[in-house]
Amino acid sequence: MTLEKINLSTGPVHISDAVRNALSEPAVSHRSPYFRTLLDDTLAALCNLFSVRHTFVMNGSGTMANEVMLHQIKTLGSKGLILSNGEFGSRLSRQAKRIGIDFIPYTLDWGRRFDLAAIKQLLSTGNMGWILCCHCETSTGVLNDLNAIADLCEAHQMHCFVDCMSSVGTTHLNLSKVTMATASSGKGLGAYPGLALVFSNVAPWRSDNTPTYLDLTNYALKNNIPFTISSNLINALHTAILQKQTTAHTSMIHQYCHRYYDILQRYDVVPFGDRQSKVFTLVLPDGKKPTFTAYMDEKQIILSYESEYLVKRNWVQLAVLGHYRENQLDYAAATLEQCLERIC
Ligand SMILES: *Cc1c(COP(=O)(O)O)cnc(C)c1O
Repeated sequence: MTLEKINLSTGPVHISDAVRNALSEPAVSHRSPYFRTLLDDTLAALCNLFSVRHTFVMNGSGTMANEVMLHQIKTLGSKGLILSNGEFGSRLSRQAKRIGIDFIPYTLDWGRRFDLAAIKQLLSTGNMGWILCCHCETSTGVLNDLNAIADLCEAHQMHCFVDCMSSVGTTHLNLSKVTMATASSGKGLGAYPGLALVFSNVAPWRSDNTPTYLDLTNYALKNNIPFTISSNLINALHTAILQKQTTAHTSMIHQYCHRYYDILQRYDVVPFGDRQSKVFTLVLPDGKKPTFTAYMDEKQIILSYESEYLVKRNWVQLAVLGHYRENQLDYAAATLEQCLERIC
């Protein structure tokens, strides 16, 4: 069997040879015409892929993109609602608190589904200007109903802000109805971590007291290149996006995710199940986690179980966010089944 490891972790994800080669090209100045064209092409491709007017890129991981979006929300000045049903929803709340954003939390137990009626009830309690939530709540794999939330915002003339970190690039996503959304280079787009992405359908709101690095207007005013940006990372991202545009790979991923979900379901280890998700959170029978992870590791399959919140709960995650060959996904399905058969 193949000696190359198969990366089914939540990130950094499985990288294709083409993207790896793009990263290793010589570094080019961010002030050169070559870089200008490369960046413009990359941002235009992202706008096109997700049906948004503007895409901004900045140095940093996904948390940076959320921080930038949260400062835009702060500048907006109105009160809003932050929905949370997992680790990443609560991170958004904690970040918002530090920035001093005025909001009401709507917090559910991890893995529970948002109740639109309850949200409407909360909206009637005050003058709310916006809703913020995660699309795919990566901690549980639950895919929140972004369409319903965006429609609700539209009906109430509110802005809709969404963290799409683990749904961008892994599922067909039309972001034309949201105000702003965030992503990163290192998850579903299948590139290296290090670039934060903010998608927007509005021109950024201006503020004079937002730190320069976090101020989206600064990126807009400086034509998207206010500071040094790594040409290597942009080149890798650009190559990864070109690969994403071929739908054959996306439909193969869908097909294998259904298969993984069905296997996990059969052994009853995926309590927050969502067949559409590309991230699965496995809750294994008592005491079985070490055997499971050791077996998968020995078979060269990389999973996620070292994040603080996963360790705390004894959870393991399997995610299909990168770029794979079919024989790799097939091998992983067979191995997963053998392993669960053995331990469950
Ligand atoms: C990964 C992730 C983030 C940000 O993580 P970074 O480690 O900063 O890249 C934020 N929200 C969600 C939903 C994520 O999956």
